[in-house]
Amino acid sequence: MSTLLRVDSVDAGYGDFQALFGIDLDVAEGELLALVGANGAGKSTLLKTIAGALKPFRGTIGLAGEDVTAEPDIRRARKGVCLVPEGRRLFPSLTVEENLQVGAATGRKGPWNLAKVYEAMPLVADRRTRKAARLSGGEQQAVAIGRALMGNPRLLLLDEVSLGLAPLVVDQLYTALPGIRAEGATVILVEQDLNRTFAVADRIACVLEGRIVLTGTAAGLTRDQVTAAYFGTG
Ligand code: ATP
Repeated sequence: MSTLLRVDSVDAGYGDFQALFGIDLDVAEGELLALVGANGAGKSTLLKTIAGALKPFRGTIGLAGEDVTAEPDIRRARKGVCLVPEGRRLFPSLTVEENLQVGAATGRKGPWNLAKVYEAMPLVADRRTRKAARLSGGEQQAVAIGRALMGNPRLLLLDEVSLGLAPLVVDQLYTALPGIRAEGATVILVEQDLNRTFAVADRIACVLEGRIVLTGTAAGLTRDQVTAAYFGTG
């Protein structure tokens, strides 16, 4: 399968602080990659760098063979790179439907529209006329994903979307993933729950203190290997 994303020798961080060291990562078209690692390991920083919200100190980000390192997040969104960050960041005074329409305005053309999002995420459909400020955390998270889908992501980056949500809501979010992939999205997600990670991922990459210390297919890795990499005891 062809490579959609190529992260090559990336160092990144904030001001003088370096959070990522020599990250190399290839993700194939259609793949679902899970990033795991302890708090502060650098997972969010890596997603932000891939999305273009953070410019790397060195190294390159390639998308479908094109070097996009110099392109800011808005330009990458037009090419289908979409980050759903930790914490939901909806427009609180807009309704659910209006928030979804914002996603369509910033993304690219493709199969996703309001009807399809509502079909894939019944939780979102039920709340379509409600103001975002009046939604529960789980509902907001679902809308944030729906909004990303409206931009027809080619590469969807999900940062701990299940954090703090009730298991039932998380189940609903995960139930939508196969449909999202069927529409052609490649997915990188950060997930703390190893059971969910192994259930959903094709491949797993473990981040420890700013470095990728282990990668492998979900079928080829054991939980013990991933746990050891997570704690740096491998
Ligand atoms: P978490 O699950 O806690 O979000 P993470 O693996 O996503 O963990 P990052 O958020 O990428 O980790 O953080 C990596 C390192 O960068 C940490 O040491 C963190 O304190 C630091 N960091 C993150 N955001 C900023 C920022 N805006 N300014 C300065 N340092 C930051």
